[in-house]
Amino acid sequence: MYDTIIIGGGPAASSAAIYAARKQLKALIIAQEFGGQSVVSNDIDNWIGDIRISGFELAQKFEKHVKAQSDLEIKEGTRVTEITQVETEHHFPVYQVTTDAGDSFQTKSLILGMGAHRRKLGVPGEHEFNAKGVAYCATCDAPFFGGMKVAVVGGGNAGLESAWDLLAYADEVYLFNRSGELKGDPGAAKRIQAHEKFKGVLYNTVVTEILGDKMMTGVTYKNTETGEESQMELQGLFIEIGSLPNSDMVKDLVDLNDRGEVVIDHKHSKTSAPGIFAAGDITDEAYKQNNISAGDAVKAALSAYEYVSTLHD
Ligand SMILES: Cc1cc2nc3c(=O)[nH]c(=O)nc-3n(C[C@H](O)[C@H](O)[C@H](O)COP(=O)(O)OP(=O)(O)OC[C@H]3O[C@@H](n4cnc5c(N)ncnc54)[C@H](O)[C@@H]3O)c2cc1C
Repeated sequence: MYDTIIIGGGPAASSAAIYAARKQLKALIIAQEFGGQSVVSNDIDNWIGDIRISGFELAQKFEKHVKAQSDLEIKEGTRVTEITQVETEHHFPVYQVTTDAGDSFQTKSLILGMGAHRRKLGVPGEHEFNAKGVAYCATCDAPFFGGMKVAVVGGGNAGLESAWDLLAYADEVYLFNRSGELKGDPGAAKRIQAHEKFKGVLYNTVVTEILGDKMMTGVTYKNTETGEESQMELQGLFIEIGSLPNSDMVKDLVDLNDRGEVVIDHKHSKTSAPGIFAAGDITDEAYKQNNISAGDAVKAALSAYEYVSTLHD
């Protein structure tokens, strides 16, 4: 029986694992891979302690730091496929974690760090030009589009925030919006539309293809009311149509909000289920960032330590 099992290999799970090990919990981390979502970024400029680091190097650092914890057990390259609460003789909930390798482990507590995945447009060229003009995180990548002509897909708050971030760097910013009105905060929309570098919202418009050669060079888009197709030259396209938390597996165990995010108490990173903690992009944390994921995971690990210390047979 483990004191805690940590699931994931991004900043959240990696820092939870390090703290659990430092607290001498009998801990196991199950990571499909180390690094997390920003592994694809060429330059991460806001990871505290490194002025600039690639996502790949950051992933290597997480892995090295986790593997330096001598008593920590690690299952790498393995995916958790099921988590259930099991009946035991103990007077506290016991959780069973099953992996795609067919192994099952029991634990007194769990730290969920499975993160999220960006919702994709699902159009030709999106995969091919990923990180070659196509981007999913303006907070991270807007500075690389200095002086360029770019567009954002999505008129919700994430799309508007991206457009605002891009206006600080790019020369021309457009926004593709599927419906006839922007869904995001009207104040933010007004501020963006008043900016001299903002060149307009294309309403009732969907991007149907991303064009390019070695790098992206433009898009084909369609007006959903008239059916008319047009092309626009662009050097960057930020896709901000939402992010999907990897929470499906725990939907019957813990409370999720209407976006499918695990609801946590932000003081202790506790979920609604006793002994289950969560951190990072899988949660309802407002800001999805590496440093925040790591910090919330520290809270989760310390809370798991306190929780386990209170359990008696
Ligand atoms: C392209 C891009 C660039 C970004 N750049 C920056 C940046 O510059 N700065 C910044 O602060 N933030 C950046 N972000 C945001 C940042 O990456 C996330 O906030 C952060 O990665 C969230 O960390 P996490 O550990 O919660 O989850 P994730 O990073 O999503 O990691 C989840 C981990 O869990 C593993 N996993 C998932 N399911 C299972 C399972 N069932 N079993 C086992 N393992 C599983 C995955 O393999 C992965 O390792 C970027 C995001 C993207 C998409």
